[in-house]
Amino acid sequence: MGLRCAGTTAAMTGLPPSSPSPARGLPARGLHVITWGCQMNVYDSARMSDVLRPLGYQPVETPEAADMIILNTCHIRDRAAEKVFSELGRLRKIKDERTAHGEQTIIAVAGCVAQAEGQEILARAPYVDIVLGPQTYHRLPEMVARAARAGGAVIETDFPAEQKFDFLPDAAAPQTPGNLTAFLTIQEGCDKFCSFCVVPYTRGAEVSRPVASVLAEARRMVESGVREISLLGQNVNAYHGAGPQGDVWGLAQLAEALAAIPGLNRIRYATSHPRDMDAALIAAHRDIPALMPFLHLPVQSGSDKILRAMNRGHTADDYREIVRKLHEARPDLALSSDFIVGHPGETDEDFEATMQLVRDVTFAQAYSFKYSPRPGTPAAGAPLQVPEDVKDARLQALQALLREQQDAFNQSLVGQTVPVLFTSEGRKPGQISGRSPWLQPVHVTGTPDLIGQELPVRITERLTNSLNGVLEEEKVYA
Ligand code: SAM
Ligand code: SF4
Repeated sequence: MGLRCAGTTAAMTGLPPSSPSPARGLPARGLHVITWGCQMNVYDSARMSDVLRPLGYQPVETPEAADMIILNTCHIRDRAAEKVFSELGRLRKIKDERTAHGEQTIIAVAGCVAQAEGQEILARAPYVDIVLGPQTYHRLPEMVARAARAGGAVIETDFPAEQKFDFLPDAAAPQTPGNLTAFLTIQEGCDKFCSFCVVPYTRGAEVSRPVASVLAEARRMVESGVREISLLGQNVNAYHGAGPQGDVWGLAQLAEALAAIPGLNRIRYATSHPRDMDAALIAAHRDIPALMPFLHLPVQSGSDKILRAMNRGHTADDYREIVRKLHEARPDLALSSDFIVGHPGETDEDFEATMQLVRDVTFAQAYSFKYSPRPGTPAAGAPLQVPEDVKDARLQALQALLREQQDAFNQSLVGQTVPVLFTSEGRKPGQISGRSPWLQPVHVTGTPDLIGQELPVRITERLTNSLNGVLEEEKVYA
């Protein structure tokens, strides 16, 4: 489970906002949030909806019905800004149409593209009312008021002295009631400055939420029915939150406290950095059954030369050694990763070292990308940029190997009995679906009353991206 890029709307994620009734005394206003990017953006969209709820904003399915539209953007890879401007062109038509009918529409651009290209957005799309970076969501109500008052655009892309987590309302019921899985952001930002990455510039320095605030939010989630929480952060395993006694807690300690919440069956975390995979966290995989045996641990490259150029701070063998220790702690642990092919300076030998690392480690699932220069990052101006056709060929070869490994991992589960947390009805009548500990979707014949339970399933068949199985017996895990 990584922080994946995807295009989702508020309606699709089912996440924000949670209260079905408009704030008292204010007319209901429609809010439509379009979310691009990682799970952290999905979480942020939910929090933006939360801060706007007291102003009377309620989710609506379409931008045409919305008094306010938020485009929550991602800047991690190619053509991010162009995609934003193309979407804004579409939203402008909707705004013009609504204006012709006497309806006001506030358009806000949030997220990492807003952070990186704020002035450009206002220059090229003057119909945008608000541009806000990821660190200023808690100021959104004030920005809405300012936009309405001033009749001009409001831009907030600084990194304010106050921490946004201290000001965002707690997520009382952060998911649609009945949701069994939830994201919980515990850490943001990054101080590592990998050569290729915009995150330290768009999300700012690494900040961890205090332990008490994380635990309180997790308890509320569990009370609302959540059974699986995915802890999120750009460097989630660098978590160092203030503990209740003024001490500092790492992720292992936090996971232990979360695992003690009655009713919380499963804990995941993403995205981790190999440098922060410390002994305590590895031991936590041995000692905490609720910590799922599936870890997204990006390695990016198998070549020490490229890892150095990327400023990753570890070698390929360091990574192999971490994986060895993880398997010692939890033999059924499977790995997912991120890879970049074609970083400046990458030769055929360097790429072969990546292929070798993949063969040595084996991955249950992985994401791989062609290096895409991000303006302002060190690698963008580096010599020895790799031609596109070479990147294409390497990506194809890597993805073929990763696909083979993913299929082999899924096939290895056929005949085994695994716990499945059932979360929804299946696509076919009479079917219910859930997730294995390794996040594969699993479908069985079963009745909807089993949704919400974690039950043993014997896997009978591997499909392209999911598994079929049969319920073993109606015994609840955990
Ligand atoms: N913090 C995580 C880590 O250290 O691995 C990564 C977070 S980043 C949001 C997600 C992934 O996007 C990275 O692991 C990397 O593979 C990919 N990525 C980031 N910048 C990229 C770029 N300029 N070109 C291609 N892929 C990139
Ligand atoms: Fe980006 Fe590197 Fe930080 Fe991950 S660790 S967010 S890749 S700078």
